[in-house]
Amino acid sequence: MIDVDVLVVGGGPSGSSLATFLARKGVDVRVVDRAHFPRPKPCAEYLSPQASRLLEAMGALEQVELSGAAQLSGISVRAPSGDVIKGDFVASHGFRGFRDRGLSVRREVLDAILLDCAREAGARVKEGIRVTDVVRDATRRVVGVRTMTDGTAGEIRARLVIAADGLRSVIAHRLELAHALRWPRRLALVTHYMGVAEIGEHGEMHVERDGYVGIADVGQGVTTVALVVPASRAREFSEDRAAFLDRWLLARPHLAPRFARAERVSPVVATGPFASHARRAWSPGAALVGDAADFFDPFTGEGIYAALRGGEMLAESVRESLAAMSPGASYAPLAAYDAARRREFGGKWFVERVIGAVVGSAPLINRAARRLSARKDLADLLIGVTGDFVPADRVIRAGYVWRVFGL
Ligand SMILES: Cc1cc2nc3c(=O)[nH]c(=O)nc-3n(C[C@H](O)[C@H](O)[C@H](O)COP(=O)(O)OP(=O)(O)OC[C@H]3O[C@@H](n4cnc5c(N)ncnc54)[C@H](O)[C@@H]3O)c2cc1C
Repeated sequence: MIDVDVLVVGGGPSGSSLATFLARKGVDVRVVDRAHFPRPKPCAEYLSPQASRLLEAMGALEQVELSGAAQLSGISVRAPSGDVIKGDFVASHGFRGFRDRGLSVRREVLDAILLDCAREAGARVKEGIRVTDVVRDATRRVVGVRTMTDGTAGEIRARLVIAADGLRSVIAHRLELAHALRWPRRLALVTHYMGVAEIGEHGEMHVERDGYVGIADVGQGVTTVALVVPASRAREFSEDRAAFLDRWLLARPHLAPRFARAERVSPVVATGPFASHARRAWSPGAALVGDAADFFDPFTGEGIYAALRGGEMLAESVRESLAAMSPGASYAPLAAYDAARRREFGGKWFVERVIGAVVGSAPLINRAARRLSARKDLADLLIGVTGDFVPADRVIRAGYVWRVFGL
């Protein structure tokens, strides 16, 4: 009683990527999402230069660029001291991304384009279906999911169920694979403005003692703004998020004049805490991809790349798993996918955690900014790592750390 070979729960970047690559391999795949697209997603909306390789492979790059996405030439980080680290994607370190620029595009636009790629590749996409639980057989193997559609309960049976359902993945939690990390516990307020002054080609991160804000052009005169603060401040904006955000921005003398004539054009959405990690990205009959498997902190902003790349990596393992002759043999490709993720993303996870700690400490970020503002070569290297085209080990070495933090 199988309804479909592969059921992908979640039509965000990870689900769309996986479904596109699977459908192209001739696999019978269905995507379900509780939302109706286009739908917003709280995000700072930056895509690293290397994410364009995956957009191209999915057949989405041209459409994303034509949609009016902004092109970013690098990232700047302002420390509480006022020192600015400015890194460019094109630099003298000898590494080059798939594209010389990053993209910045509204998730409403991006995610709808990506889901259409999955449809065009042959995946069956059903919107407005919320998955509420997994269904397991007597051996505890996942054999399907329970659903809720317009108040009606249902069930979908599949040979493999993929959790691409984001940060608070129902599947990852029901399978007890993912857990929230105790640190960092941060919340974000995300919105869009028109008319912010002095928006240039660099994505901006402004770190303050009480949080940080990401600001970037997302095309067509719109600026995305994502403020991240410790979760302990949640009560301060429980009644009026917009007023809290305004107060935060207007209290910064270097930001206030830039927002003086700006008009907010989307609701202020709150999200978080974010940090979550899966001890294993698979279970018999199921696998996790994208945020369902792990997410750390928005500061380094590469969740979309990891989601797209995770989908690409998982596609081959899913095909091998389906071809296996016995349930037991079908697990090895999923375990291999998990190991491959750790090899591919392990260095980045380490760098993200170091950056997460530095950003949370004014003395450390001030020290790093003082050094990196004077050493463009080191700044470019770090921005290249966060841009997914410079190997993480180029900054995980004693010499680099000493030059940034040494006395
Ligand atoms: C404040 C903030 C800023 C960020 N900024 C950036 C950035 O600038 N650049 C970047 O690369 N990354 C950024 N990220 C991370 C990025 O948003 C995620 O890593 C990325 O969206 C992960 O994609 P995904 O497909 O795994 O999950 P999602 O994009 O979350 O998609 C999950 C999908 O699953 C659906 N779903 C959820 N539950 C169910 C259910 N029970 N049943 C059915 N469907 C379900 C949802 O409707 C959704 O469509 C940011 C994150 C945050 C929180």
